[in-house]
Amino acid sequence: MPRFGAHFSIAGGIEQAVERARAVRADCLQIFLKSPTRWAFMPLADESVERFRTAAREAGLRPLVGHATYLLNLASPDEALYEQSRRCILEEWDRSERLGLDCLVFHPGAHMGSGVAAGLTRIALALEWLHAERPGRRCRILLETSAGAGSSLCGRFEHLAYLIKTCNPGDAVAAGRPGDFWLGVAIDTCHLFAAGYDLRTRAAVDDTLGRLDEAVGLERLLVVHANDTRAELGSGLDRHAAIGHGKLGREAFRVLVNHPALAALPFILETPKEDDKGRPMDPVNLRALRRLLQP
Ligand SMILES: [Zn+2]
Ligand SMILES: [Zn+2]
Repeated sequence: MPRFGAHFSIAGGIEQAVERARAVRADCLQIFLKSPTRWAFMPLADESVERFRTAAREAGLRPLVGHATYLLNLASPDEALYEQSRRCILEEWDRSERLGLDCLVFHPGAHMGSGVAAGLTRIALALEWLHAERPGRRCRILLETSAGAGSSLCGRFEHLAYLIKTCNPGDAVAAGRPGDFWLGVAIDTCHLFAAGYDLRTRAAVDDTLGRLDEAVGLERLLVVHANDTRAELGSGLDRHAAIGHGKLGREAFRVLVNHPALAALPFILETPKEDDKGRPMDPVNLRALRRLLQP
């Protein structure tokens, strides 16, 4: 059975995210390691790390997922931004490892007009650098599928395939730690749909997952961001909506939460936290997902 959770705020201290997850009876959680719209890192005290680890363990939350800042762009042709992005994700990965997170999800980046091949090459070089800096990490790095708008990369499964084959191929894995890998994939249901991958029927989900399997192998898929969407198939638009209240609809999520290929994965909500009346929506969306499970 999948595990259901959400992205939770770290306002007031990183351990507060665990409290928020408990309050809505989540099975797993996702957090930012810092403000996602600023480069600066707030200090992270050892006591805070210990409180987070203990609270997360006691609450039975797993997996623990980190999400990197929105600012970084490892495909950027701007040298200064590229260097700042590399340093930033390294620090976020260090924090993730300290906190005992299982994986760190990031948006691979946008080539900003320099071309798909050049952008992917820069991401691959950055990832190889990252892994060389910190070999043997427990916390994995996950490439997130994008909505595919503008010059953003990884809206196509071929982009994911290129990065994994270049940076962490199966044979290198077999030579090191058999069956293990450091670079994986996170899918976002809203982004997939925006990028043209349909999920509205069992046949569509089978087709989309089959293509992902061919590209990277489904064993690399470790996280599902469960978001309905206000945008059309192939629109390129990233517009998260409450479960069952968007263009994907209830049926898409019924198929997804009951799909055998996704049965062991965490489904993490990144849907609006409140409705127009200010009512908290995480409990509503979690219930919506759980109610779709079939015995
Ligand atoms: Zn994301
Ligand atoms: Zn999104």
